[in-house]
Amino acid sequence: MSTNNSHKSQNSHDHDKDSDSHVYEEAHKCYQCGKCFAGCPMSDVMDISPTHLMRLVHLNEIKEAMSYNTIWVCAACESCMTRCPQQVPIVEIMDLLRQKAFKKIQNGESDGEESIKNVVLAHKLFLENVKFFGRVFEPALAGMYNLQSLDWFKDVEKGPSMFFKGKLPIIPHRIKGIKSFKKIFDNCKRKHENENEHEHKHEHEHE
Ligand code: SF4
Ligand code: SF4
Repeated sequence: MSTNNSHKSQNSHDHDKDSDSHVYEEAHKCYQCGKCFAGCPMSDVMDISPTHLMRLVHLNEIKEAMSYNTIWVCAACESCMTRCPQQVPIVEIMDLLRQKAFKKIQNGESDGEESIKNVVLAHKLFLENVKFFGRVFEPALAGMYNLQSLDWFKDVEKGPSMFFKGKLPIIPHRIKGIKSFKKIFDNCKRKHENENEHEHKHEHEHE
């Protein structure tokens, strides 16, 4: 298990009450067997393992759990869930943590850790790209990423070989029914705004 930032778990005792606690409660079923970690294809690049993450969620250390890159680099492949003997909804928990962290960054409540800034940028651009084309259009995604991350020449040397292998289309293909597809994003945005409003109201009531 990679523990680059494991000091954080010792220092943080911020217990964060959360409206999604019913999902987080599923982490209570975890008995730390480590099978999820053993099968995770992204474990090499994670700050902490999914097993460690489930432990933090179990302890209600939500703020700390959100501070690691684990939630951002998770590929949602679900291989951890197929291995988990306790049917812990790891991917759903990851997704909630990611949404919550993203919301905080968008609302300016947190800049995000320096190390995850570009991961968050990639996440944002990926969603915008999918919303616009209905599927990923890699050249636009890579171009926007390089531009906004100021890493202008990142991976450009891979472009030609990908192009000649037919992996880098020049003309984007928009899916049929893009309008209906965009409605999904609009509905999510509305839901997100309502949740935000609800959360702020809740916070003011408890001030
Ligand atoms: S869903 Fe995420 S945490 Fe689970 S195995 Fe895949 S990459 Fe790892
Ligand atoms: S496989 Fe399931 S029970 Fe085992 S550590 Fe992972 S989440 Fe916990």
